[in-house]
Amino acid sequence: MNITKALLTWYDVNKRSFAFRGTKDPYAIWISEIMLQQTRTESAEGYYIRFLRQFPDVFSLAQAQEQQVLKAWEGLGYYTRARNLHKTAKIIAQRGGEFPDNAQELQTLPGIGPYTAAAIASIAYDQPLPAMDGNLSRVISRLYDIREDIAIPSVRRRLFELGEQLMPKQRAGDMNQALMDLGATICLPGTADCGRCPLNSFCIAYQEGEPERLPVLTKKKPPKEINLSVLLLHSEGRIFVTRRSEALLHGLCVFYLIEHIIDERDINKHLLSRHITPLSIEKLGTARHVFTHRLWQMTIYLVELAAPSAPIKGEWLSLPQLSEPPFPTAMRVPMEMAVRHLSRPASANRI
Ligand code: SF4
Repeated sequence: MNITKALLTWYDVNKRSFAFRGTKDPYAIWISEIMLQQTRTESAEGYYIRFLRQFPDVFSLAQAQEQQVLKAWEGLGYYTRARNLHKTAKIIAQRGGEFPDNAQELQTLPGIGPYTAAAIASIAYDQPLPAMDGNLSRVISRLYDIREDIAIPSVRRRLFELGEQLMPKQRAGDMNQALMDLGATICLPGTADCGRCPLNSFCIAYQEGEPERLPVLTKKKPPKEINLSVLLLHSEGRIFVTRRSEALLHGLCVFYLIEHIIDERDINKHLLSRHITPLSIEKLGTARHVFTHRLWQMTIYLVELAAPSAPIKGEWLSLPQLSEPPFPTAMRVPMEMAVRHLSRPASANRI
């Protein structure tokens, strides 16, 4: 028995059952792998089922409007991935719907990096390549007791080569999923249930006594904090929203944002200087949202205007219409506050 056989035997009995498992359809595998990069497996399942119901094949996704794709992606975050998904679907549809059958070609498509390419190629086409995500890096660094920082490119290459050696000629996809399952259920970050592990007789870190200290990974820089005032501009039962033109959250709907935390008086000045008359300004509360490199620290204000005119281009939506366009998760708390307060007849802090 070697590591590969031992793990596949364990996987045959213990594999986790998900909606996206058991298919060889590269389209479905691709959608699930892109979703799984950013979301816990259990949470991704619902999104996966709904997405495939709406876009059952690459042609339906290619023909969709970008706003429909973004709406279907709402809540998953990392909207560049949804946009790349759409771009790649168009490319594949133009080629008659055929996905490349190897990782090298898959990586030429928008949004498909080495991990996703290896996952699709191994699961759909049995290409013996390790799909090096956090789970595989952790399990392999423990199996071979790799004590160097796994952020270093040469260490990452070494882990990949060790992973490659573990891949069987057949069932490469199962081997990747077995390593992922082991990493998600037994060989966990910061802890390892080695007594239950099918690989404990092979594992050097376990034999050395401190597997939970691996992998070594230098801490990333904390995200940059940005203070934002979120103005829920409303008038005559409608609320103002605008589409982002900035790279972050491009094309998604947000409420009126001002970079800086400002108080009610400054908001009044800000709007008057843009020929807009606020009738009332009420501070509703605060919220924060963490992106990969940024942290939005938001203060949220309800601002009633005399008429539906706004400082920038956008749309005025009624409450039911608010559920139509795609909003990022960062707007979840302001959205809840808007829905809760919009029907109130008068606002506090009249100025
Ligand atoms: S023996 Fe422990 S550390 Fe080694 S792979 Fe198994 S769970 Fe991870």
